[in-house]
Amino acid sequence: MNLKHLTNNILRMDSKRVARQEKGATTLLLHHIKEVDRRRLYSDWKFTSLFDWCVKDLGLCEGSAHLRITAARLLADIPEIEIKIENGALNLSNISQVNQFCRENNIKDLEVKKDILNQIENLTKKETDQKLFSLTGIQKPGRETKKRISDKKSKVTYILSDDTLEALEEVKKLIGIQMSSDELMKLMIGALKEKVEKNKFKQITTPKQTKGTKVSGRMISAEVKRKVYLRDKKCVNCGSQHRLNFDHLKPYALGGTNTIENIRLLCFQCNQRASMKMGLSRR
Ligand SMILES: [Zn+2]
Repeated sequence: MNLKHLTNNILRMDSKRVARQEKGATTLLLHHIKEVDRRRLYSDWKFTSLFDWCVKDLGLCEGSAHLRITAARLLADIPEIEIKIENGALNLSNISQVNQFCRENNIKDLEVKKDILNQIENLTKKETDQKLFSLTGIQKPGRETKKRISDKKSKVTYILSDDTLEALEEVKKLIGIQMSSDELMKLMIGALKEKVEKNKFKQITTPKQTKGTKVSGRMISAEVKRKVYLRDKKCVNCGSQHRLNFDHLKPYALGGTNTIENIRLLCFQCNQRASMKMGLSRR
């Protein structure tokens, strides 16, 4: 189609007319979807759901199918929205926002829904969100989602408070170089892991000896403890991470050394059992 011959004014008027027609076609399609839904025909036609039918038989993209089904079902409950869709006061996107809001807040009363729809007429997506937010006075919790997008990557959404987001921006500024979310996350996880491990290491290596006690020959050096901890990280016998002890594989009393090779991590229980087996009692 070539529109080059149209004058500017006619092009504008024509565009408006076609847009109106498109809205008319949209509501007409909603009525059809609504009726197919009412008759549950999609299963007769061997589709698994109304959505499946919309995508595979009508050729709608998934997002578009979702919006139309939501609006078609709302149209069945509230016929008044038809005229509002046609005159542009409501669109499929903000209808979907209201629908999700009602679902999350367990709003089923049609009069309440109608009232909410009245309040969001002619609003943009962002304005609709703000309006809905103000209606409850509580922040819409949103949903944290995780979606596999390739064999090595997932798309994850997190809900962050303003404070957290601000802190995150500060960290980014401090780092000073552009990073992908993945790189930033890796960096933060690495730092956190290091801190947690350090604390844990400190906890389990704090010597229990009292002041003035001489470090005896059986004391394991901090360096060996650190290496053993980083190697084993948990009870090598049962995998527990609670009440970990450094244990001599060959008991010190029997000539075992304080080397990394002869030291292992055992939980309290396993350590006790090992000692009993060796006929050594430890306190
Ligand atoms: Zn154990």
